[in-house]
Amino acid sequence: MSQQADHSRQQEPRTERVERCDPLNIESGLEALRSSSEFHGTVEPLEGLDDLETCEHIALFYRSREERFATVAPFVRQGIEQGERVMYVIDDLSRSEILTELRGGDVDVDAALESGQLTFHPLEETYLRSGRFDPDDMLEVYSEAIDDADGEYPGLRVTANTNFVLDEHATIEDFMAYESRVNDLFEGEDCIALCHYDCERIPPETLVDVIRTHPHLVYDDTVCHNFYYTPPEEFFEPDETYRDVERMLNTLVDRSRARAELNETVAELEESNERLRRFAYVASHDLQEPLRMISSYLQLLESRYADELDEEAREFIDFAVSGSDRMREMVDGLLAYSRIDMDESDFEPVDCDAVIDDVLASLQVRIEETDATISVDELPTVVGDPQQLEQLLSNLVSNAVKYSGDEPPRVEIAADRQGDRCVFSVSDDGIGIDSEYVDQIFEIFNRLHSNDEFPGTGLGLSLCRKIVDNHGGDIWVDSEPGDGATFYFTLPTATGS
Ligand code: ADP
Repeated sequence: MSQQADHSRQQEPRTERVERCDPLNIESGLEALRSSSEFHGTVEPLEGLDDLETCEHIALFYRSREERFATVAPFVRQGIEQGERVMYVIDDLSRSEILTELRGGDVDVDAALESGQLTFHPLEETYLRSGRFDPDDMLEVYSEAIDDADGEYPGLRVTANTNFVLDEHATIEDFMAYESRVNDLFEGEDCIALCHYDCERIPPETLVDVIRTHPHLVYDDTVCHNFYYTPPEEFFEPDETYRDVERMLNTLVDRSRARAELNETVAELEESNERLRRFAYVASHDLQEPLRMISSYLQLLESRYADELDEEAREFIDFAVSGSDRMREMVDGLLAYSRIDMDESDFEPVDCDAVIDDVLASLQVRIEETDATISVDELPTVVGDPQQLEQLLSNLVSNAVKYSGDEPPRVEIAADRQGDRCVFSVSDDGIGIDSEYVDQIFEIFNRLHSNDEFPGTGLGLSLCRKIVDNHGGDIWVDSEPGDGATFYFTLPTATGS
């Protein structure tokens, strides 16, 4: 299913939409969070959890409104974008407060509200339809909604707050009975629910039961497949405590074994990475010598026998010399790449203002030749390796100057502090990059131009990515062909900077 808004789809008859959509299941509910830019957290993968009974019922535990909508907004947005029916049960917030939060979370609500795709339902129409909370009644509400959506929409997505469990119209026992039955109702249907639980207001004894009745939980920006989940048929049984003991012990054993396996895999990976690094180093180092030999003998041939060679033979020798020069540049680059050290113990506070001064000083000749204007904002102090960071900024700034097009380059370097990390940007107004290639350019030796158009080895950005990876950051580019490019990367900031 596409994660992008496909507006043309909304114009088509609904029956066609139904045929083309994948079933709505837990995977698609988690996908909303996995692909969301505002949900920064971890989504535990489903693989290897076949024995965990899954269903389409997710509980969100939140402590602040911001935390709550970081999950709810992408969940609703994806439903709307995929043409699903989205039902929002109102509880502690008003409809307009919810709409403000959804709009702030980039959810395009207006068309969906108008067409009836997105609807809001007060408690009196849902949980408290008959004056007090009645599980049968509420299951009826959902099963009617499933029937209504069926055929017209590819699925039903429900989201609801649950603070009403705190008032006198509902008992916790009824609610738990209901929650465990929702799993059964949704199982096998194109239907998914996200219920929000306010950790600050709902008492811990209730939250414990909520944990036990939901197969999937979202808490502290992390989606967890719930090892404490208790199937409804067991939840209300009198001997459940015995089963709880069994479950807890097995969970401990599973977790411990998984952790031991993980540690082993990490150690193997580290070893294999080290072997690869050594291989790249030795290969590129040992290639230098025969290469040097090829180019010096070619040059000797040219200088000694130039008079005896015809023009074509001299041209061939020129090609061979420039080929071996290029290969030497690539081998040097590979060597530099393999030398980038992963050792975080050398990291120190690095003043990026000083780093950029050094970078600009070393690029001075190129800057003057191209008449480039470089503007630099105040940059922070970060934690890292100063040489690597100089290399990173140098590669990005020299690319910004190199790929500038016909006009003198204009380059801006800025940094935006976000919590304990900082987002740096290097933007230019040059030739830009087609969106199709924005990932490929970070691969080793990948270039979008011939050497005649722009000289280079295709190593600069792969070095940048390796350096940023080493520092635990991300690097990406935002660009339109003909409209310049902005390269972003993140680094951890030094405390107190
Ligand atoms: P090189 O510059 O040696 O080719 P890089 O790894 O630095 O290698 O860059 C890879 C490719 O990404 C370049 O060949 C170029 O096509 C593209 N590129 C990099 N920086 C920019 C930029 N600022 N504007 C447009 N294209 C860029």
